[in-house]
Amino acid sequence: MNSFLKNLKNNKYLFIITLIYFALGFVNIHFALLGFICMLLPLYLLVKTNKKTYCQGYCPRANLYTKAGKATSKTSRKTPMFFINGKMKWIVLSYFGISLIFITLSTIKVAVGSMIPLEELRYLIVFRIHLYMIQIIEFNNILPWITHLSYRFYSMMMTTTTLGLILALVYKPRTWCTICPISTISDVYLDNSKNKMNKLIRNI
Ligand code: SF4
Repeated sequence: MNSFLKNLKNNKYLFIITLIYFALGFVNIHFALLGFICMLLPLYLLVKTNKKTYCQGYCPRANLYTKAGKATSKTSRKTPMFFINGKMKWIVLSYFGISLIFITLSTIKVAVGSMIPLEELRYLIVFRIHLYMIQIIEFNNILPWITHLSYRFYSMMMTTTTLGLILALVYKPRTWCTICPISTISDVYLDNSKNKMNKLIRNI
């Protein structure tokens, strides 16, 4: 297992995982729920190692941005300062929070029968994407709220990944990482744990 993780770290083909994730949505949309791993694994590793382990070598999306950014490296611009130390990361974190609240509340409404499942893709929560998602494999007897959650999660992953890709093409490849909600949450966590540690040392 350790050697598997070692091989995976900074592997140049990590980006394939992201491509497979989006392709799986066309096999069956319920595979979109695998995206929870992308959300929870960085936080698990953060708490376990007390550093941004996932960001430093295991993130398939960052690898995809690096690859895409290389294509336009000659014309790429510097990352805007308001991305690095301005309000942009808090705006993106707010979008992420609002998305999660919307996903949770609408899924609960579907589960209790007060809303029909939204079986369509949306960009930035509100913009409907007119893309028919063929389903190569059909799963039977899936509860409507699970299907709704899958479409909503796929939409959120699609939104953040394409925004990151656009930024990678215009600015430096990993510009998204300066405003990525996972990075912002990790920074807050690490700052807090550093402060706690300093307090503890001062009290010894
Ligand atoms: S900041 Fe976000 S996109 Fe960048 S490496 Fe970390 S989790 Fe991946």
